[in-house]
Amino acid sequence: MDDVLRGQAEIFEHLFSFVDSMALKCAVELRIADIIHSQDGPIALTQIVANISDSTISSSPETMLYLKRIMRSLVRKKIFTVQYDDGGQTLYGVSSKSGWLLRDSKPSLAPLILMENHPLQMAPWHYLSHCIKDDDGITAYEKAHGCGIFKLASVNGELNKAFNEGLACLVEVVMGAILPAYKDVFGCMGSLVDVGGGTGGDLYEIVRSQPHIKGINFDLPHVIATAPAYDGVVHLAGNMFESVPSADAIFIKWVLHDWSHEECVKILKNCRKAIPEKTGKVIIIEIVLKESLAKENDVDVFDETRMIFDMVMMAHTSCGKERTEFEWKKLLEEGGFPRFKITKIPAIPSIIEAYPF
Ligand code: SAH
Repeated sequence: MDDVLRGQAEIFEHLFSFVDSMALKCAVELRIADIIHSQDGPIALTQIVANISDSTISSSPETMLYLKRIMRSLVRKKIFTVQYDDGGQTLYGVSSKSGWLLRDSKPSLAPLILMENHPLQMAPWHYLSHCIKDDDGITAYEKAHGCGIFKLASVNGELNKAFNEGLACLVEVVMGAILPAYKDVFGCMGSLVDVGGGTGGDLYEIVRSQPHIKGINFDLPHVIATAPAYDGVVHLAGNMFESVPSADAIFIKWVLHDWSHEECVKILKNCRKAIPEKTGKVIIIEIVLKESLAKENDVDVFDETRMIFDMVMMAHTSCGKERTEFEWKKLLEEGGFPRFKITKIPAIPSIIEAYPF
């Protein structure tokens, strides 16, 4: 095919790539994966409609056609499978991807799909070029909403809930990869603070597997206010830029990527003050970007997603970013951690253990 024609086709696909996210969002809102997964085998459109729990829904021809077109789009992306019964009726079934859309069981990415595609989270994406042209230091999120994400979440209960639930759904996904790689490390600590720990799900997973650990979940007041009670976890509200509660070690997951180099140095210095000088450590769970994606033989299934996360940080945080190993080294040194060790796990982030000695 002519390269120019292929280019046109590809640009069309890119320009409409939001359609995929919207189809996913629609499926999650209607709980289509839950409906199909709860059946013994593939089901017809009429059965899907009959199980959508909304009293206003009818099975009018228009509704059926609407849903059929959405299902066709999801089938094309191999999110659901399709087969035909003896009468030629289309039946929709589960796939290796559909389980990630479940609302009623875990692990699932459904809450993250709803959070990332929430109109408030989509709005800053329209301001990327303004950030470059205006050159005024005002972030995309601030241009869209007049303040940053954590401030907005503190005054908007709906966003606070969507954000906390979106992150909490990654507890099983990421902790499931961390805990097996890391059991011995957690084994020899008496107390652990999770800095920016959200509603505490990560820490609960750690404490549950190592019940001797005294867990302290530390986050902003509006997040702690919505955190459920977990055995072995004490919730504490505060500001990590002022101080961090003391413990044998600190766990800090997906927090540093929200902040600039200077802000991270401030957080790391506060972490350093909170742990024992000789035996303490900070366990950082973050993406380590490859210096270059050019090495074809070193491909990881999450490489592309890690690069996308960097763009997400641009849209949703102030000066946050994903970092390469070199950038982590520089940051940790300035924050008071001259030594560190990176452990790769089968997940988007890696484990970065940082030592203050
Ligand atoms: N660690 C959790 C949450 C990461 S999102 C997880 O991996 O799921 C970043 C977290 O940092 C949010 O919960 C946010 O409320 C918290 N945070 C932001 N600013 C903070 C501050 N100044 N002090 C303490 N926590 C803060």
